[in-house]
Amino acid sequence: MSEASIRNDAGDRFRLWLDDPYHRLKPYPGSPDDLCTCSDEPPIKLMSTLGENPIHCMRCNREVPPERLRLETREVDAVASWQSVQGAIEMLELDSGPYELWARAQLMDPNSPTNRRGLEVSGLLRAHRCYFWFFQPIGIDEDIPGLTNCPVCDRRLVRYDDGIFPQLICEDDWVVTEFRELMPDLDDNEE
Ligand SMILES: [Zn+2]
Ligand SMILES: [Zn+2]
Repeated sequence: MSEASIRNDAGDRFRLWLDDPYHRLKPYPGSPDDLCTCSDEPPIKLMSTLGENPIHCMRCNREVPPERLRLETREVDAVASWQSVQGAIEMLELDSGPYELWARAQLMDPNSPTNRRGLEVSGLLRAHRCYFWFFQPIGIDEDIPGLTNCPVCDRRLVRYDDGIFPQLICEDDWVVTEFRELMPDLDDNEE
């Protein structure tokens, strides 16, 4: 099956799903706009979103079709198992209910089981130059400055500009995160 026909198929499924008044109670089928079409194999990142596939393109941020990477079954299993747990914890954080603070602490702790596992799983995909996306809470909050140092080794993260938005990476640990404008250094200067 060619990538073009995979995209057309996904488009039909997405439109049918969206037209269905009960769509929120049915599985999200994915949209063709979710899929990376970069042709020169940019690096990838393991980044949980609401869909099943957490493998994303470092450049366009979209999902990389697993067919393109020709993953082995054990790699597919590892990615899917990590995604199910990470996705659940991220949902608890997003839900802003009684579990929010617990979930946020898990996601921000590089030694939490889900982050340790995520680092291992991204390591399994290292042949594809896979980074691990480190969570930062949504929205810029005065109390939560953006990350400046690697959550694993604590060395300064470096800017990665070959993407649709600026990212920060640690080349030793293969960690990537969003570059936030509100940095602690800038904060200090403003006062
Ligand atoms: Zn891409
Ligand atoms: Zn590091």
